[in-house]
Amino acid sequence: MKIIGLPALVGSYDNYIWVLYQNQQAWVVDPGESEQVLAFLQQQGLQLQGVLITHFHHDHVSGIGALKDAFPQAKVYGPELTPDPLIEVRLKESDRITLTDDFALNVLFTPGHTEDHISYYNDDALFCGDTLFSAGCGRKFTGTFAHFTDSILKLRALPDNLNFYSAHEYTQSNLKFAYLVEPGNAALRQRILNTRILYPEPLEGPQSTLGEEKATNPFLRFDQPAIKAQLLQRGALDTAESLFKTLREWKDDLDQSGALDQMDLQESVK
Ligand SMILES: [Zn+2]
Repeated sequence: MKIIGLPALVGSYDNYIWVLYQNQQAWVVDPGESEQVLAFLQQQGLQLQGVLITHFHHDHVSGIGALKDAFPQAKVYGPELTPDPLIEVRLKESDRITLTDDFALNVLFTPGHTEDHISYYNDDALFCGDTLFSAGCGRKFTGTFAHFTDSILKLRALPDNLNFYSAHEYTQSNLKFAYLVEPGNAALRQRILNTRILYPEPLEGPQSTLGEEKATNPFLRFDQPAIKAQLLQRGALDTAESLFKTLREWKDDLDQSGALDQMDLQESVK
């Protein structure tokens, strides 16, 4: 199965729409737009078989209608809790969908960013929508921190080798926060030096691996001693939920103040 990330809502939300394709058949994850998807399908001679949705936000679902118009046989999969009427097959934890004879995806319930969020994974790949990002994680909107923490721990328990596909390209700003939180992390420093983001070019291949995220993404490392000590100092209790919440709110504050925009990442790691 080939996988390519098509940029969507560039300059506003900076999404990726992941297209999975093999033998003239294609599936898309979280189409917040449709034009670039339709162009890619036509250019590659692909028939859309299915649409996989992670949660209800408009930058993940707004392209469904136009894709269904062009490919009425394509099946729309999504979370059981998402009210969107365009979803035809409703999925919950432990469900499994078969795309081809050798490619199926398991469903993991990962609420927290929103209350309905699911992720898709198999032995090779993880599509985690807005739960985790490359070097970061989603904001808590309509979910709860208790659920969000459980979801993060579920994703952290998956194997390191999984190719990592999230729904947005926020790597640069996420790495700034990661470095601010954990400047002594050698793997993070190396990741910053190696990172070259070419967005909004299409991305052929994953953003990273789950193993790389576990080694460098602070939202998978909130209970590591160096990070935890700072969170306790910021008033966190010694529970996973409180540590995660304190870390997420720390980033929210910096996002709001624009403080990370001022930071020159490449300079800081030198
Ligand atoms: Zn979202």
